[in-house]
Amino acid sequence: MQTNQTPINLIFGPVASRRFGISLGIDLSPNIKQCNFDCLYCELAASKTISKQNSSPKVSDIIDQVKDAIQKHQQIEVITLTANGEPTLYPYLDQLIDELNKIKQNKKLLILSNGSTIYKNNIFRSLQQIDIVKLSLDCATQKCFKKLDRANNSVELHKIIDGIITFSKVYNGDLILEVLFVDGINTKDDEIDKLYQILKQIKPNRVDIGTIDRPPAYDVKPIGFDKLQEIANKFTDINVNITFKNRPKSLQSFNHQEIIKLLKMRPLTQDDIDNTFDTSSVEILKKLIQDKIISVVESSGVLFYKIFEI
Ligand code: SF4
Repeated sequence: MQTNQTPINLIFGPVASRRFGISLGIDLSPNIKQCNFDCLYCELAASKTISKQNSSPKVSDIIDQVKDAIQKHQQIEVITLTANGEPTLYPYLDQLIDELNKIKQNKKLLILSNGSTIYKNNIFRSLQQIDIVKLSLDCATQKCFKKLDRANNSVELHKIIDGIITFSKVYNGDLILEVLFVDGINTKDDEIDKLYQILKQIKPNRVDIGTIDRPPAYDVKPIGFDKLQEIANKFTDINVNITFKNRPKSLQSFNHQEIIKLLKMRPLTQDDIDNTFDTSSVEILKKLIQDKIISVVESSGVLFYKIFEI
């Protein structure tokens, strides 16, 4: 049922996001948390899981507020569908996406989803109408998934994984996956190796890997930057973007061969370069780009340096 009351603020921002650019957020569950997961690391309070929303804002109220914001803030680059919970549980998602696509002008539409509903036909179709789809995938095994994401009984990991693989084959936009690592839960070698095998099948445009950086709902611990880097290095040939608050800066000097070797292992982001390449290494990198040995590609606001593909 669309809530019939004085519209509250259904949008937030624009905010500058390092991962996606200047973003206007839409909150599809502005009053309470409504989620089919109860992740250990959630920055919202722990709560009972649900399989459908009980309270949902009206499409027309959202559209009115987005139209106003677009007019006021021309600099907006992305319109982000999000929620206090899982945005794909919003029952009018299809209609909302249609309306947003009519008014978004040159802005991109982005959704931040936990991926849990991707195998449902209606959601599968709706997500194809969105320019950038960011899905979470924290675990490769049901055991880890149950422990970490604490999903509603209606959710099965193998359906999600199969759904994402199928989606990746037909989707024309930017598919981004996000993995959040929690110490001792999804950080075992075996789990990471299995996750890598799945990522290779999905071939997303980008994988954001990170850890807890805000007070979590449960008593769990983040991993350090070194561990994240170790994981990134295992995800060979994948565009991995490490997201880490207060990332340590450690400038080093790399020669021509060392830079090529590094990038053969995995593409590096602008952030990786800024935090690890000293001035002379940056000069060598520029020359390698000029000589078309290294290319620079963009994935929804994040720059990647990679070995040139012919
Ligand atoms: S999916 Fe997102 S909102 Fe839902 S419990 Fe997990 S972190 Fe929280």
